[in-house]
Amino acid sequence: MRLLEAIIDANHRALAGDTNAGLHPSEFADELPLVALTCIDVRLNSILPQVLGVPQEQFIWLRNAGNIITGPQSSTMRSLSLACAVKGGKEIAIIGHTDCQVGKTTTMQLLERLRAIGVERHMLPDNLNEFFGMFGSDRQNVIKGADIARQSPLIGPKIPIHGLLVDVESGKLDWLVNGYQAAETMTTRWNEFVKSAGQTVDKLKSLSDFDIGEMKFPDTKIGETVTRAEDWVAQKVQKLEMKPAAAPEPAAQKTPPTPPRIPLPPPIRPKVHLRRAPK
Ligand SMILES: [Zn+2]
Repeated sequence: MRLLEAIIDANHRALAGDTNAGLHPSEFADELPLVALTCIDVRLNSILPQVLGVPQEQFIWLRNAGNIITGPQSSTMRSLSLACAVKGGKEIAIIGHTDCQVGKTTTMQLLERLRAIGVERHMLPDNLNEFFGMFGSDRQNVIKGADIARQSPLIGPKIPIHGLLVDVESGKLDWLVNGYQAAETMTTRWNEFVKSAGQTVDKLKSLSDFDIGEMKFPDTKIGETVTRAEDWVAQKVQKLEMKPAAAPEPAAQKTPPTPPRIPLPPPIRPKVHLRRAPK
């Protein structure tokens, strides 16, 4: 059983009344810590990470209003990337919640409330909804966020990105996006891409002024990846040819870079009891 399967299983068992439902963190050493992006809603303060059964020290918690990801290179994506690369996060879960006020606020209400705190309309961008990432459906917002994160060049194919919805009253989790399935697809794409690009990718990476934003996949169907990736890399090389060359990399190195492995602390509690849902 993989981490998210165990989390969902334990959560649903606890809700059904199983007082022994929980995770054994030592069994998931390769899949913890878990990086979570949630809303700022204060009702989450007391139910996370307990309803996941993940111990506090294995829970890297990012929050923003509405657990919104506005783009593949947004500030939130950079934090998620660093949470994995620097803090050793192994999997990402975007966790929306029921009854989210961000999702319930209309454009008119938002304008009124901003005005109430002294922000006038003319000080704001034209497309307010897009700017703030406003949404109408808690579920769709999670699905969209997981999709943007999956396409982000800042998260490699080794990190599964899940989408969950937590019920703020019962603590029940719904697994909306299975990050294991999406990660397999991405790994295939990455492998084809890197194989076809070969050493050229290393050459690109070695240029000191290389913009990571340009590492975004060309928009292709899976079957087309190989030829299109070659074209794409050829274009990039052409574009960068005038720039100073860096020291050549070893020819054998053809795999994408791996995030540094940060040693995990030893498990502190052998068994974690999930918080029971309030009646
Ligand atoms: Zn919310």
